[in-house]
Amino acid sequence: MTTPWSLPDFDDHEAIHFFTDEECGLKAIIAIHSTHVGPAAGGARFWHYAKDEEALVDALRLSRGMSYKNAMAGLPLGGGKSVILANEERAKTSDLLHAFGKEVDKLGGRYITAEDVGMSVTDMIEVARSTNYVAGLPNSPGDVGGDPGPHTSLGVFLGIKAAVKWALGKDSLNGLHVALQGAGSVATGVALHACAEGARLSIADVDEAKARKLADRAGGAVVSPDDILTLEADVLSPCALGAIFTETTVPELKVPIVAGGANNQLATPQDGERLQKRGILYAPDYVINAGGIINVCTEYLGDGDASLVRHRIEGIPVRLEQIWSEGAETGRDPASVADAMAQRLIGRA
Ligand code: NAD
Repeated sequence: MTTPWSLPDFDDHEAIHFFTDEECGLKAIIAIHSTHVGPAAGGARFWHYAKDEEALVDALRLSRGMSYKNAMAGLPLGGGKSVILANEERAKTSDLLHAFGKEVDKLGGRYITAEDVGMSVTDMIEVARSTNYVAGLPNSPGDVGGDPGPHTSLGVFLGIKAAVKWALGKDSLNGLHVALQGAGSVATGVALHACAEGARLSIADVDEAKARKLADRAGGAVVSPDDILTLEADVLSPCALGAIFTETTVPELKVPIVAGGANNQLATPQDGERLQKRGILYAPDYVINAGGIINVCTEYLGDGDASLVRHRIEGIPVRLEQIWSEGAETGRDPASVADAMAQRLIGRA
């Protein structure tokens, strides 16, 4: 029998909560990896999984990623994540979001939720009807809050620039070719920043209309989702889903840099070593994509304004350089360097 304890991604989670509400069709998991640094914070993902076990593994991996991400971003928050298991029709009702909010509330602030894939600002307003332990709510101009996506995009863009400087010795993306996997919230912001600096873009999304729309707006070419990982480019920026770097895909890459916003890009820790062996500079995902949680945290804690959020996001390239530098000194790949740093910060070294 498979139990949560026996899963390789269990990693001493402090708690895993399973919820169902037959009336509204809610089936959800809230995973709390660590509250060592503060209350566990991480978004809610609304996704249809072929098997329930896949949802649990996703929650565990994302939750641990949040512990590492929040600690590495210097935030006073621990790590957690929730997944709402959508049915095949992906029906999301107000009652279901309300019921999810009630379950978050019952945890009394040990877990703070916000948007992730499949959840919008409007959805968070529904969730906030039943709990105060929620961020990512609409904001007035100048206030901190709202969709974390643009803040994540800014951090990813600054991280790409740092990688380009580190690996290619260039101060600008002008004239460089950036391959974007995904054309959603994060990818859109990255594309707009990159094209404003003169980058050439190739964009792929399983929803071709989205890729086309972004390419028209930012001025890029649409590429098939099957081809984006093998495209010859200066930067590959994965901004869709996780586990895309594997023993099969890494040997096929034709880029010197991988730097993007998707969570859990490496299928296994060995894939970080594989990238390193191929001479590809990797920006650890939970470090480069912390811009959104920085905004969410500042909104939730009410400890700063938009300029503090910007300042904190500008710390992302600095941390990446520390990781690459330690990697260069020790010969370890950036993902393992980042994991070791994060584990020290959450008291698990
Ligand atoms: P989104 O749902 O807006 O966009 C994701 C896009 O990826 C969608 O358009 C989808 O069609 C596309 N996609 C899915 N599978 C694909 C594939 N195989 N090839 C090409 N495209 C594919 O989500 P988002 O908010 O932009 O998040 C993207 C990634 O960044 C996710 O991994 C998310 O966990 C991560 N992330 C997001 C934030 C945030 O603030 N939104 C913060 C940190 C990390």
